[in-house]
Amino acid sequence: MQYETVIGLEVHVQLDTRSKMFCACPADYQTADPNTPTCPVCLGLPGALPVINRRAVEFTMMTGLALNCSIPEYAKFDRKNYPYPDLMKGYQISQYDLPLALDGYVEIDGDPSIGHTQRRIGVERVHLEEDVAKMQHFPDGDGGEGYSLVDVNRSGVPLMEIVSKPDLRSPEEAHQYLTSLHSLVQFLGVSTANMQDGNFRCDANVSIRPVGSDTFGTRTEIKNVNSFRSVFQALEFEVERQQRVVESGGQVVQETRGWVEEREVTVSQRSKEYAHDYRYFPEPDLPPLNIGRDWVTQLQASLPELAPQRKARFIADYGLSEYDADLLTNTRATADYFEAALSIRDVDRSPDTALDSAKEVANWILGDLSRLLNQDHRDIAASPVTPTGLSDLLRLIADGTLSISLAKTVLEEMYASGGDAAAIVEEKGLAQISDTSAIEAAVAEAIAANPKAVADYLDGKENAARFLMGQVMRITKGQAQPDLALRLVQEGLAAQKN
Ligand SMILES: [Zn+2]
Repeated sequence: MQYETVIGLEVHVQLDTRSKMFCACPADYQTADPNTPTCPVCLGLPGALPVINRRAVEFTMMTGLALNCSIPEYAKFDRKNYPYPDLMKGYQISQYDLPLALDGYVEIDGDPSIGHTQRRIGVERVHLEEDVAKMQHFPDGDGGEGYSLVDVNRSGVPLMEIVSKPDLRSPEEAHQYLTSLHSLVQFLGVSTANMQDGNFRCDANVSIRPVGSDTFGTRTEIKNVNSFRSVFQALEFEVERQQRVVESGGQVVQETRGWVEEREVTVSQRSKEYAHDYRYFPEPDLPPLNIGRDWVTQLQASLPELAPQRKARFIADYGLSEYDADLLTNTRATADYFEAALSIRDVDRSPDTALDSAKEVANWILGDLSRLLNQDHRDIAASPVTPTGLSDLLRLIADGTLSISLAKTVLEEMYASGGDAAAIVEEKGLAQISDTSAIEAAVAEAIAANPKAVADYLDGKENAARFLMGQVMRITKGQAQPDLALRLVQEGLAAQKN
């Protein structure tokens, strides 16, 4: 039998606010010592009262608007009750029936291997809740149960949940959807969305059904997936597992399964909870939210340009290729870096050279700078070479001080030391030699040391001139102005003929 895959994703995004969701503790919990940014509210002590973080509410509504959702006029918070040791109060403040954003969509390319192009994936809702504390388990060496420690730093950090409709039809489509959500929250500036740090996490609901059926099969939920690659692998594994179960005459059980990275399998964790297990009720310590339309209009107007629009503008305004524009808008930090370097660069450029200049800046960022950054897994936002620094370097190429190859050396030096281009050129004596007499000496030396090449040239082998020019570059440690060096080699060889 042929099966169709049905996937829905729940994506949890930690919001990049200064304080936590319901208290004034700093939300940047990862750099702090365990159990330090805490207070009675996020410790869940009796009698402590929560206060709503306005910025977190705005970030959630901005995300909803960017996802083409409608923002209801009325929303509220609810208590979701469950007894977990990482949940300090014994309940989580979340949103149940009246979330902050409803009914939007995301456009994806679609999975061509199942005949899909350009698909619209429904977003059911975007709601706001608080993150829980972090448990760490330490097994004891003798095979006993060991012990666990709780770090409350993460407790109360604003957490936004984006719930898709079950519209995804393959692991590839799930991957595309996740990638566009990731880009969207990053460009909006509402989250750092760093997957390694758990700022952006995903649970996947997956089921299969016979092709042509319009009822859903029993679904399982996969938890603990924290990279794009794991989501893809976990879904592929789970789809195949369900097919094997059904084909061997069994039934898929509704349950929560965990993805075990090392073994690349999903394993049963517990039977799935239903909404009624959580005994939701309206949070009595918080007022409901009346969301004025002028507030929504204001937020709509404040939305920054997102990756697809920015990419289109890079192609139209700067004449970049689709490929380059795609790479430059891969993260907001890269796009910002590019435009910052370019704007400094354009100050002393006329409009007709602006397009060349964009291509040149793009090449340096995507080429040598990216190579250096990748080598030590550094984000471009933390690059020791700033946009101003790169722009200064390119100015030294434009005015003839540096050849391209010398500029590459200077860039590496700038990256290593954080120094500025002109100072490095000065200090290391790296400026290009454009002085004829200095190069002539090197030409004479090259000609004297390579009689075979000279003879070849005189025999009509023009390539020998290139070889001698290479020797001149070697003698001058790459500093001779290349065109001038070639011309002087040719003159020197012509003199040999007579
Ligand atoms: Zn607190």
